[in-house]
Amino acid sequence: MKTIPNILTVDLEEWFHIDERLIPPGEWDRLPSRVEENARALLDLLDACGARATFFAVGWVAARHQGLIHEVHDRGHEVAVHGYLHQAVAPMSSEEFRADLRAARQAVEGCTGEPVLGYRAPRWSLGGAPGGGRRGRASGIVYGALDVLIREGIRYDSSLAPIVHIGDPAWPLDPHRIDRGGGSIMELPPLVGRRFGVRLLFAGGWALRRVPNRILLKEIARRNARGVPAVIDLHTWEMDPDPPRVRLPFIVRLAHYGGLKGYVEKLREILSDLPWAPARDYLAGNTSWSKEVAQ
Ligand SMILES: [Zn+2]
Repeated sequence: MKTIPNILTVDLEEWFHIDERLIPPGEWDRLPSRVEENARALLDLLDACGARATFFAVGWVAARHQGLIHEVHDRGHEVAVHGYLHQAVAPMSSEEFRADLRAARQAVEGCTGEPVLGYRAPRWSLGGAPGGGRRGRASGIVYGALDVLIREGIRYDSSLAPIVHIGDPAWPLDPHRIDRGGGSIMELPPLVGRRFGVRLLFAGGWALRRVPNRILLKEIARRNARGVPAVIDLHTWEMDPDPPRVRLPFIVRLAHYGGLKGYVEKLREILSDLPWAPARDYLAGNTSWSKEVAQ
């Protein structure tokens, strides 16, 4: 059987990077940090499975754990950005968004010495705020932020989920180029799939932790048969089966704590079964993508 590499991404963040309205940035320095041990556990797992990834680092984390960012880079992974303060995009003005992006970028580039190419919005918020006039849908792409990304030289984004609540099912499922007045940007949408008649975010979070691997792998194979890579999204805090607990609303609690037990073994199977590469390789048209890789 032949297959193409899929795109593996990781949100490099602390266990308390949940929602800045629930645990605000002013409290972060007082909370116990787990990111170094969690990220190293994930790096070891990726090595064991021969997988390479794009790590979307929260700038606040990169500024405080520079050795870790160096290590991620030195171990062969791409480092991109996930905002500086992990804030939702929609409430920010273009100026605030640009300042947050630049701060995150500076923190990462200061460690890797390489330009950041990619961006992922915290909580998929480049798709706007939930609700937004359409029942259960996000309010729509935040084009002002997309224009800032293009102007700042970011080459790709991976934030537009084709699913209700955090995005829009009408958006493309496959990687595509978005053309704007000031230039273009590649969009790498997270993988979605269907279970019980409902479209779910198979790419990451609770749904990835819960969906049986045979269903996930079948969905990925469907994309790959069309020559399209699937985009998967892991979180460093998911390596921790027993993270510090805080009181959260039910849905957030499920998204954050549900299905953590046994997750590493589930991931090991997914990562070993298929070839995985960082987003930058896909953008560069890496030969393994055009040639197909023998499995
Ligand atoms: Zn995040």
